[in-house]
Amino acid sequence: MSTVSAYAATSATEPLTKTTIERRDPGPSDVAIDIKFAGICHSDIHTAKSEWGVPNYPLVVGHEIAGVVSAVGSEVTKYKVGDHVGVGCMVNSCGQCSSCKAGLENYCKRGATFTYNAVDRDGTITQGGYSQAIVVDENFVLRIPDSLPLDKAAPLLCAGITLFSPLRHWKASKDTRLAVIGLGGLGHMGVKLGAAMGAEVSVLSQSLKKMEDGLRLGAKHYYATSDRGTFKQLRSSFDLILNTVSANLKLDDYVSLLDVDGTLVELGIPEHPMQIGAFPLALARRSLSGSNIGGIPETQEMLDFCAEHDVTPEIEVIEADYVNEAYERVLASDVRYRFVIDISTL
Ligand SMILES: [Zn+2]
Ligand SMILES: [Zn+2]
Repeated sequence: MSTVSAYAATSATEPLTKTTIERRDPGPSDVAIDIKFAGICHSDIHTAKSEWGVPNYPLVVGHEIAGVVSAVGSEVTKYKVGDHVGVGCMVNSCGQCSSCKAGLENYCKRGATFTYNAVDRDGTITQGGYSQAIVVDENFVLRIPDSLPLDKAAPLLCAGITLFSPLRHWKASKDTRLAVIGLGGLGHMGVKLGAAMGAEVSVLSQSLKKMEDGLRLGAKHYYATSDRGTFKQLRSSFDLILNTVSANLKLDDYVSLLDVDGTLVELGIPEHPMQIGAFPLALARRSLSGSNIGGIPETQEMLDFCAEHDVTPEIEVIEADYVNEAYERVLASDVRYRFVIDISTL
């Protein structure tokens, strides 16, 4: 075991505080990683604040992890000391079910082991990336191509794959009229990745406040959803809509923006159920779906794609003791577009 510094949540209402946690010694198939950067995902905040149920406090969150291999177990073949690697939302899965066998560990029938607040193989609770080191089975470690800086690579491990996977699944290409709802941490990756795949990207945002950013990041069009005219104007004009907003929307309005056979994909996971009428779906054979991160092979494909196409998130690197202020700013939508903790300051 080794003891490492970390920032932990201790209750729904207290700020995160500096503490130490234990990391296991690497087993035969484990990779030990010195964490260099950890992105701040909205899920971290939901979990830390007990908004998705009461977690196992004290809890270290963080599942956008980029670092350098510091040691490997005797049976590890994929990585060696010094390699640049990442860890995303999962650190294990059953490996036996049809999803796992298909490389869809994120949809493991027995439930993947998530990077924090999950029961690990050894019965301990997993602790995430706001910490100096982590030990992970090599099959859940991703290779970060050398051309991607580690600070910018970190948010790809959750925000990047969350958008990449549905874009690939619904075959985004130059023939795709794509709309991204919301231009935040997730949405801005949808714009960049969609544009890199050749799609004609539109942003549907509450206001035109971030229009300049949206167009700079690769969108062709930018619309305000506070303007009712937008829904009239854009009726039946998209093939694929990715909803990154975690607030409840009037889905009927958005589904109606799909052309025949179009699909709206839920990525933002609102807390409360949303209503949808059958008519907007039936009248144009439209589909409503959802997607949750991506499997390990696809996550690697995403990192390689981002390196090849020079797609990286817009980030603001912060020192570790700024994390509580960063949370406040995320909640106030005052970040363009992802905070990344410099773990050397921890
Ligand atoms: Zn996340
Ligand atoms: Zn499985």
